[in-house]
Amino acid sequence: MVTSLIRGKQFNRNRLLGKYWRVILDGTGLFCFKEKHCENCLRTERRTDDGKKEKLYYHKVLEAKIVLGDSMVISLGTEFIENEKEDVEKQDCETNAAKRLMERIKKDYPRLPICIQGDALYATEPMMELCREKYHWAYIFTQKDTRQKLLDEGFEWIKSGGIKKASGLCEEKGTGCYANHVEEVAGKKESMNVFEYEYEKKDKKGKKYRVRFRWISSLELTGKNLEEMIYAGRGRWKIENEGFNNQKNGIYRIEHLNSRNSNAMKNHYLLTQISDILMQLYLAWNPYIKKLKQTVKNTSSGLLESFRGLTVTAEDVSYIYRYTTVYLE
Ligand SMILES: [Zn+2]
Repeated sequence: MVTSLIRGKQFNRNRLLGKYWRVILDGTGLFCFKEKHCENCLRTERRTDDGKKEKLYYHKVLEAKIVLGDSMVISLGTEFIENEKEDVEKQDCETNAAKRLMERIKKDYPRLPICIQGDALYATEPMMELCREKYHWAYIFTQKDTRQKLLDEGFEWIKSGGIKKASGLCEEKGTGCYANHVEEVAGKKESMNVFEYEYEKKDKKGKKYRVRFRWISSLELTGKNLEEMIYAGRGRWKIENEGFNNQKNGIYRIEHLNSRNSNAMKNHYLLTQISDILMQLYLAWNPYIKKLKQTVKNTSSGLLESFRGLTVTAEDVSYIYRYTTVYLE
Protein backbone atom coordinates (compact mmCIF):
# COMPACT_ATOMS: atom_id res chain seq x y z
CA MET A 1 0.00 0.00 0.00
CA VAL A 2 2.76 2.43 0.94
CA THR A 3 4.86 1.52 -2.07
CA SER A 4 2.01 2.12 -4.50
CA LEU A 5 1.26 5.46 -2.86
CA ILE A 6 4.86 6.54 -3.34
CA ARG A 7 5.09 5.17 -6.88
CA GLY A 8 1.80 6.78 -7.87
CA LYS A 9 3.53 10.16 -8.18
CA GLN A 10 0.50 12.03 -6.74
CA PHE A 11 2.60 13.15 -3.82
CA ASN A 12 5.82 13.92 -5.67
CA ARG A 13 5.44 17.65 -5.35
CA ASN A 14 5.54 17.38 -1.57
CA ARG A 15 9.09 16.04 -1.56
CA LEU A 16 11.66 18.16 0.18
CA LEU A 17 13.68 20.28 -2.25
CA GLY A 18 11.94 18.38 -5.04
CA LYS A 19 13.83 15.21 -4.19
CA TYR A 20 13.64 13.79 -0.68
CA TRP A 21 10.81 11.96 1.03
CA ARG A 22 10.70 13.12 4.61
CA VAL A 23 10.69 10.24 7.10
CA ILE A 24 10.11 11.19 10.70
CA LEU A 25 11.30 9.06 13.59
CA ASP A 26 9.30 9.39 16.76
CA GLY A 27 8.91 7.22 19.82
CA THR A 28 5.96 7.14 22.17
CA GLY A 29 4.79 5.21 25.21
CA LEU A 30 2.00 2.75 24.67
CA PHE A 31 1.24 0.96 27.92
CA CYS A 32 2.39 1.19 31.50
CA PHE A 33 1.81 -1.37 34.25
CA LYS A 34 2.53 -1.52 37.97
CA GLU A 35 3.39 -5.19 37.86
CA LYS A 36 5.38 -7.25 35.40
CA HIS A 37 3.34 -7.73 32.29
CA CYS A 38 5.55 -9.90 30.06
CA GLU A 39 9.16 -10.99 29.51
CA ASN A 40 9.83 -8.05 27.20
CA CYS A 41 8.65 -5.17 29.38
CA LEU A 42 10.90 -2.14 29.79
CA ARG A 43 11.46 -1.39 33.46
CA THR A 44 11.90 1.80 35.38
CA GLU A 45 11.64 3.04 38.95
CA ARG A 46 9.92 6.11 40.15
CA ARG A 47 9.53 7.76 43.50
CA THR A 48 5.99 8.19 44.65
CA ASP A 49 4.81 11.28 46.54
CA ASP A 50 5.45 9.65 49.93
CA GLY A 51 9.07 8.87 48.99
CA LYS A 52 8.59 5.16 48.32
CA LYS A 53 10.19 3.49 45.33
CA GLU A 54 7.78 2.10 42.83
CA LYS A 55 8.59 -0.21 39.91
CA LEU A 56 6.98 0.45 36.57
CA TYR A 57 6.76 -1.82 33.56
CA TYR A 58 6.04 -0.30 30.20
CA HIS A 59 5.96 -0.68 26.43
CA LYS A 60 7.10 1.84 23.88
CA VAL A 61 6.97 2.01 20.12
CA LEU A 62 9.05 3.81 17.52
CA GLU A 63 7.38 4.96 14.36
CA ALA A 64 8.88 6.02 11.06
CA LYS A 65 6.27 8.16 9.37
CA ILE A 66 6.57 9.25 5.79
CA VAL A 67 5.24 12.69 4.85
CA LEU A 68 3.21 12.40 1.66
CA GLY A 69 1.51 15.75 2.11
CA ASP A 70 0.36 18.21 4.74
CA SER A 71 -2.59 16.03 5.66
CA MET A 72 -1.07 12.68 4.70
CA VAL A 73 1.52 11.40 7.12
CA ILE A 74 1.55 7.62 7.25
CA SER A 75 3.47 4.79 8.86
CA LEU A 76 6.44 3.56 6.83
CA GLY A 77 7.66 1.25 9.54
CA THR A 78 7.15 0.33 13.19
CA GLU A 79 9.66 -0.96 15.70
CA PHE A 80 8.70 -1.99 19.21
CA ILE A 81 11.06 -0.84 21.91
CA GLU A 82 11.31 -3.80 24.25
CA ASN A 83 13.80 -6.00 26.05
CA GLU A 84 14.79 -9.34 24.55
CA LYS A 85 14.30 -11.09 27.87
CA GLU A 86 13.58 -10.21 31.44
CA ASP A 87 17.11 -10.00 32.83
CA VAL A 88 19.01 -7.94 30.31
CA GLU A 89 21.94 -5.86 31.49
CA LYS A 90 21.17 -2.94 29.27
CA GLN A 91 17.59 -2.18 28.38
CA ASP A 92 16.42 -1.47 24.86
CA CYS A 93 16.09 2.22 23.99
CA GLU A 94 14.80 4.48 21.26
CA THR A 95 18.22 4.94 19.64
CA ASN A 96 18.77 1.19 19.31
CA ALA A 97 15.26 0.67 18.02
CA ALA A 98 15.93 3.45 15.50
CA LYS A 99 18.99 1.61 14.22
CA ARG A 100 16.95 -1.57 13.69
CA LEU A 101 14.14 0.34 12.04
CA MET A 102 16.46 2.27 9.72
CA GLU A 103 18.10 -0.94 8.59
CA ARG A 104 14.72 -2.43 7.74
CA ILE A 105 13.59 0.67 5.87
CA LYS A 106 16.75 0.64 3.76
CA LYS A 107 16.13 -3.01 2.95
CA ASP A 108 12.50 -2.42 2.01
CA TYR A 109 13.07 0.82 0.09
CA PRO A 110 16.70 0.70 -1.07
CA ARG A 111 16.49 3.42 -3.70
CA LEU A 112 14.03 5.79 -2.08
CA PRO A 113 15.64 9.22 -1.55
CA ILE A 114 14.97 9.81 2.14
CA CYS A 115 15.52 12.71 4.49
CA ILE A 116 15.41 11.36 8.06
CA GLN A 117 14.01 13.69 10.68
CA GLY A 118 14.12 13.35 14.42
CA ASP A 119 14.44 15.25 17.66
CA ALA A 120 17.61 16.20 19.51
CA LEU A 121 18.09 12.58 20.58
CA TYR A 122 19.26 11.83 17.04
CA ALA A 123 21.57 14.83 16.68
CA THR A 124 24.66 12.77 17.46
CA GLU A 125 27.75 12.01 15.43
CA PRO A 126 27.17 8.23 15.10
CA MET A 127 23.63 8.84 13.83
CA MET A 128 24.82 11.40 11.27
CA GLU A 129 27.49 9.03 10.08
CA LEU A 130 24.99 6.20 9.79
CA CYS A 131 22.69 8.31 7.60
CA ARG A 132 25.46 9.67 5.44
CA GLU A 133 27.81 6.73 5.04
CA LYS A 134 25.73 3.59 5.37
CA TYR A 135 22.35 4.60 4.02
CA HIS A 136 23.09 7.67 1.89
CA TRP A 137 20.16 9.51 3.35
CA ALA A 138 19.84 13.19 4.10
CA TYR A 139 18.84 14.25 7.60
CA ILE A 140 17.33 17.14 9.55
CA PHE A 141 17.59 16.83 13.32
CA THR A 142 16.36 19.24 15.93
CA GLN A 143 19.21 20.69 17.87
CA LYS A 144 19.06 21.61 21.52
CA ASP A 145 21.81 23.49 23.29
CA THR A 146 21.84 20.93 26.07
CA ARG A 147 22.53 18.08 23.69
CA GLN A 148 25.35 19.45 21.57
CA LYS A 149 26.89 22.16 23.67
CA LEU A 150 29.98 22.54 21.51
CA LEU A 151 27.97 22.87 18.36
CA ASP A 152 25.74 25.42 19.99
CA GLU A 153 28.60 27.55 21.16
CA GLY A 154 30.17 27.26 17.74
CA PHE A 155 27.03 28.41 16.05
CA GLU A 156 26.64 31.36 18.43
CA TRP A 157 30.22 32.29 17.62
CA ILE A 158 29.60 32.11 13.87
CA LYS A 159 26.42 34.15 14.34
CA SER A 160 28.27 36.91 16.13
CA GLY A 161 30.69 37.18 13.23
CA GLY A 162 27.98 37.76 10.67
CA ILE A 163 25.78 35.12 9.10
CA LYS A 164 23.34 34.74 6.21
CA LYS A 165 19.96 36.00 7.40
CA ALA A 166 16.46 36.33 5.99
CA SER A 167 13.32 37.88 7.43
CA GLY A 168 9.57 37.69 6.85
CA LEU A 169 9.61 33.89 6.74
CA CYS A 170 6.68 31.48 7.27
CA GLU A 171 3.27 32.55 8.68
CA GLU A 172 4.80 34.33 11.66
CA LYS A 173 7.07 36.45 9.44
CA GLY A 174 9.99 35.47 11.61
CA THR A 175 13.67 35.55 10.88
CA GLY A 176 15.90 32.71 9.82
CA CYS A 177 19.64 32.30 9.55
CA TYR A 178 22.06 29.59 8.56
CA ALA A 179 25.68 28.50 8.34
CA ASN A 180 26.96 25.71 6.11
CA HIS A 181 29.82 23.30 6.79
CA VAL A 182 30.25 23.82 10.48
CA GLU A 183 33.08 21.27 10.71
CA GLU A 184 35.01 22.21 13.79
CA VAL A 185 32.06 21.84 16.10
CA ALA A 186 30.12 18.97 14.63
CA GLY A 187 32.43 16.27 15.91
CA LYS A 188 35.55 14.59 14.71
CA LYS A 189 34.28 13.33 11.38
CA GLU A 190 31.05 15.01 10.53
CA SER A 191 30.53 18.38 8.97
CA MET A 192 27.09 19.82 8.99
CA ASN A 193 24.83 22.67 8.18
CA VAL A 194 22.98 24.56 10.88
CA PHE A 195 19.89 26.71 10.54
CA GLU A 196 17.62 28.56 12.88
CA TYR A 197 14.19 30.17 12.95
CA GLU A 198 12.99 32.72 15.43
CA TYR A 199 9.78 34.68 15.84
CA GLU A 200 7.92 36.73 18.37
CA LYS A 201 4.83 35.44 20.13
CA LYS A 202 2.48 36.88 22.73
CA ASP A 203 1.43 34.93 25.81
CA LYS A 204 -2.07 35.02 27.32
CA LYS A 205 -1.33 38.24 29.14
CA GLY A 206 -0.09 39.90 25.98
CA LYS A 207 3.54 39.76 27.01
CA LYS A 208 5.93 39.24 24.13
CA TYR A 209 8.44 36.40 24.05
CA ARG A 210 10.67 34.83 21.44
CA VAL A 211 10.31 31.31 20.12
CA ARG A 212 13.43 29.74 18.64
CA PHE A 213 14.04 26.54 16.73
CA ARG A 214 17.37 25.23 15.57
CA TRP A 215 18.22 22.30 13.33
CA ILE A 216 21.23 20.56 11.91
CA SER A 217 21.15 19.03 8.45
CA SER A 218 23.24 17.29 5.84
CA LEU A 219 21.52 19.41 3.20
CA GLU A 220 23.17 22.65 2.30
CA LEU A 221 21.18 25.77 3.07
CA THR A 222 20.71 28.59 0.58
CA GLY A 223 18.76 31.83 0.65
CA LYS A 224 16.34 30.11 -1.71
CA ASN A 225 15.62 26.93 0.26
CA LEU A 226 15.78 28.30 3.81
CA GLU A 227 12.02 28.77 4.20
CA GLU A 228 11.24 25.31 2.82
CA MET A 229 13.77 23.78 5.19
CA ILE A 230 12.24 25.64 8.14
CA TYR A 231 8.79 24.40 7.19
CA ALA A 232 10.19 20.86 6.98
CA GLY A 233 11.89 21.11 10.36
CA ARG A 234 8.82 22.47 12.04
CA GLY A 235 6.59 19.90 10.38
CA ARG A 236 8.36 17.25 12.40
CA TRP A 237 7.38 19.03 15.57
CA LYS A 238 3.79 19.28 14.41
CA ILE A 239 3.55 15.57 13.68
CA GLU A 240 4.99 14.63 17.01
CA ASN A 241 2.30 16.64 18.71
CA GLU A 242 -0.65 15.88 16.49
CA GLY A 243 0.07 12.51 14.91
CA PHE A 244 0.26 10.44 18.05
CA ASN A 245 -2.32 12.58 19.82
CA ASN A 246 -4.87 11.75 17.16
CA GLN A 247 -4.06 8.10 17.53
CA LYS A 248 -4.12 8.25 21.31
CA ASN A 249 -7.09 10.45 22.05
CA GLY A 250 -8.93 10.52 18.76
CA ILE A 251 -10.61 7.70 16.98
CA TYR A 252 -8.12 4.90 17.55
CA ARG A 253 -7.15 5.13 21.21
CA ILE A 254 -3.96 3.13 20.75
CA GLU A 255 -3.35 3.34 24.46
CA HIS A 256 -6.47 1.38 25.23
CA LEU A 257 -5.37 -2.10 26.18
CA ASN A 258 -7.41 -4.57 24.15
CA SER A 259 -5.44 -7.60 25.21
CA ARG A 260 -2.77 -8.39 27.76
CA ASN A 261 -1.14 -10.78 25.32
CA SER A 262 1.86 -8.97 23.93
CA ASN A 263 1.59 -10.39 20.40
CA ALA A 264 -2.07 -9.45 20.19
CA MET A 265 -1.13 -6.02 21.52
CA LYS A 266 1.39 -5.51 18.73
CA ASN A 267 -0.95 -6.81 16.07
CA HIS A 268 -3.60 -4.39 17.21
CA TYR A 269 -1.11 -1.54 17.01
CA LEU A 270 -0.03 -2.49 13.48
CA LEU A 271 -3.63 -2.85 12.31
CA THR A 272 -4.27 0.63 13.67
CA GLN A 273 -1.50 1.98 11.45
CA ILE A 274 -3.12 0.36 8.42
CA SER A 275 -6.55 1.76 9.32
CA ASP A 276 -4.95 5.14 9.75
CA ILE A 277 -3.57 5.08 6.19
CA LEU A 278 -6.99 4.15 4.80
CA MET A 279 -8.71 6.77 6.94
CA GLN A 280 -6.34 9.53 5.91
CA LEU A 281 -6.79 8.67 2.23
CA TYR A 282 -10.56 8.56 2.62
CA LEU A 283 -10.59 11.95 4.33
CA ALA A 284 -8.20 13.52 1.85
CA TRP A 285 -9.88 12.59 -1.41
CA ASN A 286 -13.56 12.58 -0.55
CA PRO A 287 -14.89 16.05 -1.50
CA TYR A 288 -18.20 15.54 0.33
CA ILE A 289 -16.56 14.94 3.67
CA LYS A 290 -15.00 18.38 3.58
CA LYS A 291 -18.39 19.93 2.90
CA LEU A 292 -20.08 18.03 5.71
CA LYS A 293 -17.65 19.42 8.29
CA GLN A 294 -18.31 16.53 10.64
CA THR A 295 -15.76 15.25 13.10
CA VAL A 296 -13.32 12.52 12.12
CA LYS A 297 -14.91 10.30 14.72
CA ASN A 298 -18.38 10.66 13.17
CA THR A 299 -16.97 10.05 9.71
CA SER A 300 -15.30 6.90 10.90
CA SER A 301 -18.46 5.66 12.63
CA GLY A 302 -20.42 6.41 9.46
CA LEU A 303 -17.94 4.45 7.40
CA LEU A 304 -18.16 1.47 9.72
CA GLU A 305 -21.96 1.64 9.64
CA SER A 306 -21.94 1.58 5.83
CA PHE A 307 -19.70 -1.50 5.87
CA ARG A 308 -22.24 -3.17 8.12
CA GLY A 309 -25.46 -2.10 6.48
CA LEU A 310 -25.05 -1.20 2.82
CA THR A 311 -25.30 -3.74 0.03
CA VAL A 312 -22.69 -3.50 -2.70
CA THR A 313 -24.35 -2.88 -6.08
CA ALA A 314 -23.19 -3.67 -9.60
CA GLU A 315 -22.57 0.03 -10.09
CA ASP A 316 -20.24 0.13 -7.09
CA VAL A 317 -18.28 -2.77 -8.49
CA SER A 318 -17.96 -1.06 -11.87
CA TYR A 319 -15.98 1.73 -10.22
CA ILE A 320 -13.23 -0.70 -9.33
CA TYR A 321 -12.46 -1.31 -13.01
CA ARG A 322 -12.72 2.33 -14.03
CA TYR A 323 -9.62 4.45 -14.11
CA THR A 324 -10.28 7.27 -11.73
CA THR A 325 -8.21 10.33 -11.09
CA VAL A 326 -8.34 11.41 -7.52
CA TYR A 327 -7.35 14.91 -6.62
CA LEU A 328 -5.69 15.22 -3.28
CA GLU A 329 -4.97 18.54 -1.71
ZN1 LIG B 1 5.26 -6.36 28.79
